[in-house]
Amino acid sequence: MSAHTLENRQEAALRVAELADISPGTPISRDLALQLIRCSDADLPALLSAARTAKENFKPGVITYSRKVFLPLTNLCRDYCGYCIFRRDPSQPGAHTMTPDEVLAVARAGEKLGCTEALFSLGDKPELLFPEMRDTLRHLGYKSTLHYLEAMCALVLHETSLLPHPNPGLLSPEWIERLAAVSPSMGLMLESTSSTLLGPGAAHDNAPDKIPARRLRTIQEAGKQNVPFTTGILIGIGETPEDRVDGLLAIRDLHQSYGHIQEVIVQNFRVKPGIPMARVPEPGGGEMLRAVAVARLLMPDVNIQAPPNLNAPYYEELVDAGINDWGGVSPLTPDFINPEKPWPHVDQLRSRTESKGSQLRQRLPVYPEFISNVVSRPGLLAEKLRAACDREGLAAEKRVA
Ligand code: SF4
Repeated sequence: MSAHTLENRQEAALRVAELADISPGTPISRDLALQLIRCSDADLPALLSAARTAKENFKPGVITYSRKVFLPLTNLCRDYCGYCIFRRDPSQPGAHTMTPDEVLAVARAGEKLGCTEALFSLGDKPELLFPEMRDTLRHLGYKSTLHYLEAMCALVLHETSLLPHPNPGLLSPEWIERLAAVSPSMGLMLESTSSTLLGPGAAHDNAPDKIPARRLRTIQEAGKQNVPFTTGILIGIGETPEDRVDGLLAIRDLHQSYGHIQEVIVQNFRVKPGIPMARVPEPGGGEMLRAVAVARLLMPDVNIQAPPNLNAPYYEELVDAGINDWGGVSPLTPDFINPEKPWPHVDQLRSRTESKGSQLRQRLPVYPEFISNVVSRPGLLAEKLRAACDREGLAAEKRVA
């Protein structure tokens, strides 16, 4: 055995010993996270075992999902992220802004299939770049995309039993407050804290809304307003393993300050034909598992999610890495962000979850631990949320048509 190999093995043994020492509810340090996210294949089982133990300490025996409809309110966007297949310019085939009738038709169809979440995904401020979007909004009777989004959240809230969860990009304090009046939670992926991604030819080269400090500011403001918030990191868009740890730490810091992060998504880049990053290799499964497990150990008391459709068929491995949620799964609408990756059928998700010794439960777009905060406010949103949840704060049983 070479001296080098011996040294590597000793280092590995050291890390495994450190993992055995951590208490399941105690967050690990940045130093340990940096070691673990680069751990060898030999160390991976110990890392996964520590992450799974932490998950079971946090939410034993249950993995949740949100049954949702996906509402791509507009796919026009002023940003040009290198990995995005969702966005369109107005002149491109498939460019579309949903009408109120379309929004309501999808929401009602989802309601019949037992959905409880209306996930609004849309491009960021397209009217700032495209006169066509300004015309569309004028025709619809709204000043901006956010005014239209607010009205569509209110429409779904009034007309159906679904609860809106908007994902509109950067938000000012005023807009967080306005959207929080018509939705129990909202989301913005941090994606990464790496400014390297803004450089020429990088993933966020032409994406002014992806400046990390601006995204952190939106997440912080949501915290100041006590809004249950979903965020997360992207894996494989040009960031380093250290960047992944630092992105997770930035989220952890905000959660420690405000206690509002209801969910952290660890999402892997998938190649699609036609995107600027079509030739960039996808992150390996091992990279994804390390990132998920490190997220769990950095934030042992936060819900950690990884999308099943982007990791098929390796569902079980994500459970091993410490997730406690599969995210939104739709029985009706495709994943418009990753249209080539169909969502699993809920029955399939259930059997995979049960094969790992956990029960699959349907949650609402707001997690149980944040519900009391929303239902304490007066108004329709609180009423609808109260009606939608069971005693544990998960989705109440509904008769599916
Ligand atoms: S990822 Fe979002 S912000 Fe970036 S181009 Fe696509 S829709 Fe726009």
